[in-house]
Amino acid sequence: MKSIKPEAMSRLPGIPLKNNDTFNFRCHRDLSCFNQCCRNLNLFLYPYDVLRLKKGLNLDSDRFLESHVDVVLRKDNYFPDVLLRMADNESMTCPFLSDAGCTVYPDRPDTCRTFPVEHGMLFKDRPGASEIVSFFRPPDFCQGRHENQALTVAQWAQDQEAVTYNQMTARWAAIKALFQKDPWGPDGLNGTKGKMAFMAAYNIDRFRDFVFQSSFLKRYRVKKALVKKLRASDRELLLFGFEWIRYFVWNIPSKNIRS
Ligand code: SF4
Ligand code: SF4
Repeated sequence: MKSIKPEAMSRLPGIPLKNNDTFNFRCHRDLSCFNQCCRNLNLFLYPYDVLRLKKGLNLDSDRFLESHVDVVLRKDNYFPDVLLRMADNESMTCPFLSDAGCTVYPDRPDTCRTFPVEHGMLFKDRPGASEIVSFFRPPDFCQGRHENQALTVAQWAQDQEAVTYNQMTARWAAIKALFQKDPWGPDGLNGTKGKMAFMAAYNIDRFRDFVFQSSFLKRYRVKKALVKKLRASDRELLLFGFEWIRYFVWNIPSKNIRS
């Protein structure tokens, strides 16, 4: 999810969609473009995408990251992004694509669920104020836009079971926006803080060990009810990881983590 400045809104490609605006779209295997959108992509994975994919594939986080992603540092941001590594074939297909379609469909990433809508986080002039904006942006080859089904953004999210994904991505985008400034100091991204933050965002298995197997819960006060939730749910643990990044990297006070 891109961070967008108000002055850039009118220059963005695609049709902006407000709450009740509809767009025409339906995707199905009888279309001539079936699966064309799953090749030669820059498919950025967000932390919740990684969590769901590695679980769906029954891999631990280290193994998933080693086998399936490239870590890149984009211009104007001080936190790395994670890109799904495409297959090494002529059409650079998604590694999860088969002739029958997506083999990880129940755990497919947020971008795939939301496509051909794209979301961005619009940061307004007031500090802390932000809003999610949506654009209908099918590529030229995508035939689904000629189908006779009108949807709002919310209906499309329901249809694709993307609501939780969209919420998790928005929570992450708010953290990611902090990294328009450099928090790392002389140690850089590969220092202790940088490695810790990457782990909290993208390596849920190591982060779980850090929370439960290290002295973390002795050094920091975390309410028992929350600890129970973190043990029971990786999604809650990931949200806790986001809070930990704010606290540990940015010194932003947390009501859930006290020293
Ligand atoms: S290109 Fe569009 S319509 Fe075709 S398979 Fe992909 S999403 Fe569906
Ligand atoms: S994860 Fe599935 S839907 Fe997304 S690009 Fe790969 S094959 Fe296509």
